[in-house]
Amino acid sequence: MFRKLGIVKEFLSVKDFTNKEVLEAYQKEKLAERLASHGSFFYPNSEKLEDFPIINKKIFMENFETINTVKITKEEAFKVALASEESRNFSNKIGDISVGLSSGTSGNRGIFLVSEKESIRWAGYILKRMLPKPLLQRHKIAFFLRANSNLYESVNSLTITFTFYDLLRPLEEHIERLNATQPTILIAPAQLLRLLALSDRLTINPKKIISVAEVLEEEDEALIVQRFSQKVHQVYQCTEGFLAHTCEEGNLHLNEDRVYIEKAWIDKKSGRFSPIITDFFRSSQPVIRYKLDDILVLEKEPCLCGSVFERIKKIEGRCDDILKVKDKKREPYLLFPDFIRRAIIRASDKIEEYSVEHKEDVLHIYLQPISVKDEVEKSLQKLYGEQGLEVIKHLYHPYKIGKLTDKRRRVKQL
Ligand SMILES: [Zn+2]
Repeated sequence: MFRKLGIVKEFLSVKDFTNKEVLEAYQKEKLAERLASHGSFFYPNSEKLEDFPIINKKIFMENFETINTVKITKEEAFKVALASEESRNFSNKIGDISVGLSSGTSGNRGIFLVSEKESIRWAGYILKRMLPKPLLQRHKIAFFLRANSNLYESVNSLTITFTFYDLLRPLEEHIERLNATQPTILIAPAQLLRLLALSDRLTINPKKIISVAEVLEEEDEALIVQRFSQKVHQVYQCTEGFLAHTCEEGNLHLNEDRVYIEKAWIDKKSGRFSPIITDFFRSSQPVIRYKLDDILVLEKEPCLCGSVFERIKKIEGRCDDILKVKDKKREPYLLFPDFIRRAIIRASDKIEEYSVEHKEDVLHIYLQPISVKDEVEKSLQKLYGEQGLEVIKHLYHPYKIGKLTDKRRRVKQL
């Protein structure tokens, strides 16, 4: 009961911000509170954000024990998290702290701690931001994840039934269960939404579809929109925090009432940056000036929904996947993965699947069907011409299907 009341309280306290000055004043206050009370040995004692070091996942994990404020060792945390993954039972806790592993795309797994209070807050917030209006209808939510955690189960309350689908289970089983439960809200990684959209056995008719956990690519979005005759909403959520959501207009906004975001510019002209995040509320494992390895593209146009939260045109993937190539003068040149992606999908409408790996100056291109390779070749040569690049050596291969649990990266720099 305490938990439900907590979620309702949080739900009711989440406000919409339609005035930039009001938002800035709010952020200033929350930031000051955060810095004054982080309670962590790792971070400095200062009221100025610029006195705090900019950290990344590696530094965050290396200093796990001095950053967390609940005296949990890395060894202890890993033990609980791995045991949960193994048994698929995610109710294990250390005290009132849930432990989760972040899937991560680069192999270095992160570990995150969430207290009961933080989990309640998270649940109230995500419900307020993502539930279709009017807010107090009954909802059956189907949530697909690589691993469950107490964090997600906490939404099982009020008028909401929340069913967790384990991505490790076979697709056919998911389709059967979805058909039987008829969820009103479907939340899943983009590649799973894509597979569901392609299934002719699926009979569900959700009111809202939300893509999570990986980049939603335009061609997948188009397919899902067509199949379910509605917008695809997005949640930009990582273990470091719930960073952005789509509004009723379908546009992505940063959750600037949860996190303070500084921009590490990658290319100011095109609006590309990596976010450096400071979470106002995480206290068992404070997140301060944490730089994410994602490329976000800023949208400067205000949104019709009236929110003054900054808009994101899209989330493009990881900085690590920017291809390091050369221009015609043999000078180093950074080619954004999105350019390669577009060149490939515009080559032919027969392309069903593709992936690209750039390794030791060779671009390995995996295609299904492989018969489209001449068209893809032509389109890539055009791209190199447009960008003034030195021609890259290509090798073509048939596409290999990966596991559902693998986070998909269409374009990889190895
Ligand atoms: Zn909006």
